Amino acid sequence: MTTLNSITGSAGSLSQFDPQALPVSAAQAIVLQWVTPLAQNERVPLRDALARVLAADVISPIDVPAHDNSAMDGYAFDGAALLASAAVGTPGGATLTLNVAGKAFAGHPYTGAIAPRACVRIMTGAPMPAGCDTVVPQERVARSNASGEAPAAASITETPIESITFRADAVTPGANRRRQGEDLARGSAALRAGRVLRASDIGLMASLGVVDVAVKRRLRVAFFSTGDELRSPGEPLDAGSIYDSNRYTLGAMLQRLNVEPIDLGVVRDDPESLAATLKAAAESADVVLTSGGVSVGEADFTRTQLQALGDVSFWGLAMRPGRPLAFGRIWSGGHPGAGHAALLFGLPGNPVATMVAFYQIVRPALIAMSGATPQPVPLIPARCDAPIRKRPGRTEFQRGIAERDAQGQWHVAPTGSQSSGALSTMSEANCFIVLAHESADLDAGDAVDIMLFDGLV
Ligand code: AMP
Ligand code: MG
Repeated sequence: MTTLNSITGSAGSLSQFDPQALPVSAAQAIVLQWVTPLAQNERVPLRDALARVLAADVISPIDVPAHDNSAMDGYAFDGAALLASAAVGTPGGATLTLNVAGKAFAGHPYTGAIAPRACVRIMTGAPMPAGCDTVVPQERVARSNASGEAPAAASITETPIESITFRADAVTPGANRRRQGEDLARGSAALRAGRVLRASDIGLMASLGVVDVAVKRRLRVAFFSTGDELRSPGEPLDAGSIYDSNRYTLGAMLQRLNVEPIDLGVVRDDPESLAATLKAAAESADVVLTSGGVSVGEADFTRTQLQALGDVSFWGLAMRPGRPLAFGRIWSGGHPGAGHAALLFGLPGNPVATMVAFYQIVRPALIAMSGATPQPVPLIPARCDAPIRKRPGRTEFQRGIAERDAQGQWHVAPTGSQSSGALSTMSEANCFIVLAHESADLDAGDAVDIMLFDGLV
C-alpha cells in the first residue's frame, strides 16, 4: 500500500522536497492526492439547496423563455411592414400608421389574428402575438383615439387607442423581441455537477420548475483543541490558563464551508484522552481537525498517538505563519485498516497559524472532498505602501489592510503585529498579503498580490 511517508520520504515521488521545508504548493498537491470526493448523494427541496454541492447536471426540461415575448412596453407588429409601401414619406422621414387590434399583457396573451397594418398593445414579458416579430417602444409612437386626438399621457392604458404612428427608423425588423429558448434551450445543461449552489442558481432552477435537487451529502468534520492550558468561555481563567479560541474559529470557518461540524471540545495533554478522542472522531467523521500539539516541543507526544492510529506525516511547511502540520489518515479501530478511516489535519496551536493553515491547506481539501469543483481564490495585484521584510524560501501570508484608490489601483499596508498569536490583527485585516515562496524584502511601492477576505472568510 502507498503510504504518506513513502510519497514524501526519500524514495517517493516528492522526494525532491524536504518534509521540514515543504513548499505550500507541494503540500496542497499531496493533500489533494489523498482526497476522495464524497460518493453519497441526497435530495433536498430547492429552498434548502443554497451552498450545497450539486451532485448531477441540471438539464432544462423547458425552453426559457417558454415563448417569444416582448422586451419592452410598446406595440407588437409584423416587421415586414417597415419595408412595405405602407411607410409613407413625410418631411421628417417615412412614417408608419398601424391600427391597434388588441392587448397582450404578461399572463394574458393576445390570441386573435392580426390584419395587415395592425398591431397589438404589448407589455414587457407578454407573449408575442402570432404574426408579430417586432415591438416599437411606446415612447416612440404618437397615439390617436377614435376622434383622432392624442389621449392624455396619464390614461395611456385605459383610453382605447385606435391607431399609432411612428417613424419607420424608430425600430428595425425583429427588434425588442426575446426569442423562445434564448436564455436556455430545452435539453441543455443549466447547471453542472460540482457547483456550489448560489442564490441565482436556486432562482434558475425554480425558473425551470425544479422541485428538489440532488446534492452531495454534507461532509462531516470533527474538530477539537488540545492543551492543558485551555479553558472554555464561561469557565474562570486560573493562573497560566488561556481561553480556547481555535475551536470557535474552526467551528466558524467550517460553518462558512457548509460542512457538518462535530465539536469534540478540549482534550487535555494526556495520551489516553487524546487516543480516545481521535478514535471517536475517526468513527463519526470524514475529516478530523485538531489544533495544538504539533509544534516541535509537543510533536513527540502527539506523533506517537497519531502514528499508532494510522498513516500520519509531520511536516514543516515553508509557510508563515503555520509551519508545523500533521497530515494523514487515522482509523477508528486503533490501527491502520481497522474500523472507519478519516483524513486528519493536525493544525498548529497559534490562533493565526491555525487560520492560515486552514485556509491554505485544509479548505481546498474540504472543498474537493465535498465533491465541489475547486475554484482558485482570486489574487489581486496591489502596491504595497510600506516596506516588508521577507526571507526567500517560504510563502508568507501577512495580514493587510487594502483599499482601492480613485484610479482603481489597489494599495495595501500590513497590519501592526504579524505575530502568529495576534488574532486581533486578523480581525483588523481585510486581506492576506501573499508573499511568494521565492520573493525577498520589499520596498514601499513594490507590487504584491493580495487575497481579499471578502467571500473567502
Ligand atoms: P502548541 O502548538 O500546542 O504548542 O500551541 C502553540 C501556542 O498556541 C501556545 O501558546 C498555545 O497556548 C496556543 N494555543 C494552542 N491551542 C490553542 C487554542 N485552542 N486556542 C488558543 N490558543 C491556543
Ligand atoms: Mg499545546
